[in-house]
Parts: sequence; structure tokens; C-alpha cells
Amino acid sequence: MPFAYDDQNIFAKILRGEIPNDTVLETEHTLAFNDIQPQAPVHVLVIPKGAYVCHDDFAANASDAELVDFMRVSARIVAEAGISPGGAGEGYRTISNAGAHGVQEVPHYHLHILAGRPLGRMLA
Ligand code: IMP
Repeated sequence: MPFAYDDQNIFAKILRGEIPNDTVLETEHTLAFNDIQPQAPVHVLVIPKGAYVCHDDFAANASDAELVDFMRVSARIVAEAGISPGGAGEGYRTISNAGAHGVQEVPHYHLHILAGRPLGRMLA
């Protein structure tokens, strides 16, 4: 399935260095930065540097190196924030919104990592 990537989206501009960001971690294929409007004490966005629109675009079309790097960066964010239940942290939530029904605001794939307060139930 082809995805139309809008290279004027705000995360594309961040990746090109056209607007600033509060970087948490950067690797060859991945950038993680603090959300500009945090919904929790920890609210980090993890994005691939490649031009992917949403989760299934990235999961289906990214290289193995990009996929592994993205997942490892997400794990490092969790570990370094001390929020992993496997490391005696109090837990976290990952979210990726996609498309209109997912209420995706920025059409460049990103994973939200939220933590630092009880987040409530989102699923019935
Ligand atoms: P979405 O609804 O899943 O697409 O979420 C987009 C997120 O990007 C929101 O949580 C915004 O607060 C965040 N955001 C938008 N612009 C910026 C920015 O320039 N820096 C950091 N986060 C941003």
C-alpha cells in the first residue's frame, strides 16, 4: 500500500534542522525528543529519520536496521527514564496514532512514551 508523505510536516522540519527540538536521544536512524505539549511528566516522541507516515508504513516498509534501531531507542528511553516495570519503575504507556480515526496530528510516524503519573484506562 503506497503512503503519500508530506515533507512539510513539522517532524520533517525538525529532522531537517529547520525548527528546534528538545532532543533526548539520537542515533543513525532514530530521533527521540520531548513533546512540546507534554501530557505526563515523561512524554517523549520517538521518530524514525526515514519518511514514514504511520505505524504500518514503518513496520511494513522500513529496513531491518531502521526497525531494530527504533525499537532499541524506545527501550533506552524507558530504561534511562527509570520507568520500566522490569527495573522497578512504575510503568508507562506507548501510543501511536494513525490517520483520521486515530487522530494523528503529525503525519510522520511517531511513538509516544508517556509516564510519571497514573495514566488511566484507555480501552474498555
Ligand atoms: P499525534 O496526535 O499522535 O500526531 O501527536 C503529535 C504530537 O506532536 C503532539 O503530542 C504534539 O504536542 C507534538 N508536537 C507537535 N509539534 C511539536 C514540536 O515542534 N516539538 C515537539 N512535539 C511537537
